[in-house]
Amino acid sequence: NADLAMYKAKQSGRNQAHFFTAAMQEQANQRMTLEQDLRQALARDQLEVYYQPIMSGRTRSIKGVEALLRWHHPERGPIPPDHFIPLAEETGLIGEIGRWVLDTACAQVAHWRSQGWPLYLSVNISERQRELGLNDKCVATALEQNDLPAHVLMLEITEGLLLQDSEDTLNWLQGFKALGVSLAIDDFGTGYSSLSYLKRFPVDTLKIDREFINDLDSDRYAHSLVKAIISMAASLDLRLVAEGVETEQQCKTLLDQQCVLMQGFLFCRPLPAADLTDWLASQPSGPAALPPASD
Ligand code: C2E
Ligand code: MG
Ligand code: MG
Ligand code: MG
Repeated sequence: NADLAMYKAKQSGRNQAHFFTAAMQEQANQRMTLEQDLRQALARDQLEVYYQPIMSGRTRSIKGVEALLRWHHPERGPIPPDHFIPLAEETGLIGEIGRWVLDTACAQVAHWRSQGWPLYLSVNISERQRELGLNDKCVATALEQNDLPAHVLMLEITEGLLLQDSEDTLNWLQGFKALGVSLAIDDFGTGYSSLSYLKRFPVDTLKIDREFINDLDSDRYAHSLVKAIISMAASLDLRLVAEGVETEQQCKTLLDQQCVLMQGFLFCRPLPAADLTDWLASQPSGPAALPPASD
């Protein structure tokens, strides 16, 4: 009986091994196809930068926009950035794509600014882009070509990058900082950022991860954590942006805690440039300047 059980276990183990191999093969094939498609995406005009407003929750006026990449795949439809950016990083395609996002978004925001909207621009960058040659010179060129002052640009990095705590990363970020651009830590709270990292790296803004904002009014832990982040940011003179604000209650809770800058579906989803132009035109409150980090 024991032998039979052993035999059955072996059989099913063998079947499982076989199953996993087939699944893995299928996955590898899919990845290769997607990789080939991604190589063509830029040239074939399938990539588009969307823009999501960053608002003052208090005055309900727009302060800036975050550039968010979209891939319109001809057969699969829209592919979310979380699905293809890791691939773009692995393959190195993020180098070319990231430069294109920066140039495109700078040109678009320069246009909106010329129309009387003094918006700032937030662009996501990843550590991989450092290895692929994105540096202060590229950023300076993108700004100059569009006549944008450096303080208009904010670069968003993730906590993981600071965790590595490398000299190369530090120099890279200091290069941007020396130009006068702002640096934000994206998805703050999900990693392991500590006060020491905040001191060591030249960041000036924290973007509270939407996971915490989502639970803000239902989970005491999330509420306390957001409160702690807000008071820490205030004492370190860091600007704060709350991500993923979806309800009036969340907006109110944040305002009660003196967190003013917000981004989320409550105000506006990420939109193509033309749609955001329409949205701007429909705004009741006129344009206003970004408050300093100490505000
Ligand atoms: P992120 O930088 O944290 O961007 C915020 C994400 O939250 C966006 O997802 C946005 O659509 C979503 N979001 C905004 N408001 C709300 C809300 O109220 N509720 C909910 N549920 N979600 C909200 P998206 O556009 O799918 O982007 C995902 C991530 O992909 C970004 O997270 C960013 O890390 C990355 N990404 C996007 N564009 C680029 C890019 O050009 N370069 C790089 N390196 N990464 C990018
Ligand atoms: Mg971001
Ligand atoms: Mg985020
Ligand atoms: Mg993110």
